[in-house]
Amino acid sequence: MKKILSAVLSALCVLTAAAGFAACGKSGGNGGNGGNGAENGITPETAHCVTQPRRPGDGAVVCDHCGVTLYTGEAEYELSENHRYYIFKLDGVEYSAEGKVILPAFYKGRGEGYLPVLEARFSDRNVTSLELSPNVEYVAINSAVEDVSVSGNSAFYESADGVLFDKQMSSLYYYSSAKTAEKYEVPAGTKELEPRSFRENKYLKEAVLPGSVEFVGGFTNCSALETVVLPDGVREIYSDAFSGCTGIESVVIPASVETIGYGAFEGWKSSQTIYVAAEEKPAGWDEGWNNYSEAAVVWGYKG
Ligand SMILES: [Zn+2]
Repeated sequence: MKKILSAVLSALCVLTAAAGFAACGKSGGNGGNGGNGAENGITPETAHCVTQPRRPGDGAVVCDHCGVTLYTGEAEYELSENHRYYIFKLDGVEYSAEGKVILPAFYKGRGEGYLPVLEARFSDRNVTSLELSPNVEYVAINSAVEDVSVSGNSAFYESADGVLFDKQMSSLYYYSSAKTAEKYEVPAGTKELEPRSFRENKYLKEAVLPGSVEFVGGFTNCSALETVVLPDGVREIYSDAFSGCTGIESVVIPASVETIGYGAFEGWKSSQTIYVAAEEKPAGWDEGWNNYSEAAVVWGYKG
């Protein structure tokens, strides 16, 4: 069951809602009621827009009115079930792009006006950086996209150093596996590291967590990771949080941890040690919290 879940979660999925301001430099304002999205202050007149069909053989897709190159390649625009918005898709096979992608805020298909692009799904490993439009509500990103930024004033997304957070910088959603830094300091104030947020990064050796962090997940298969200190205040360690983190010599689980999910330390070797402040397994820890781990567990650790 667990393996199936892991497979299903092959892309990071982030759900938020829409709002914001324009990314397009063309018209500064007041584009009138351009249709969907106008309630957010984003209109087709003030944001990057794309119309299909574009010229055959033209590799660069540019904004209809400001002329900025949004991406090079071909994307799929799938109309939502309710026919009110588009889903931007790059599957990396039939539809692909290279390098940087600026997500258009609106798209005009056949026989209709512009509709907002509210979702984006990236499985294309050739995309190295992504600029989200301010009206995007949902994005699924594969781990090869090195830098994610957010244009304009999205109400629900924020980025810092190419790392994607919710607007309040409370939850860290996505840290690319392509980032080669050996050390990363999670910004102060962050409360949650989402499941799979750092997954598959093979460069990161040290993750510094601020005292504000309460929920920890996402280091799945970060095999270079050597040092992570869980602040006293962490309440939950998610399932799979440190699975495959075979570079860590030892970790200390502070007394504040009430919950640990299934297989949080899967794949750990007998040379690794889990020091636990609690004298025995707290009731909130999953029965399988330490499944598939050979690590030594030392209870009642006093530091
Ligand atoms: Zn534009």
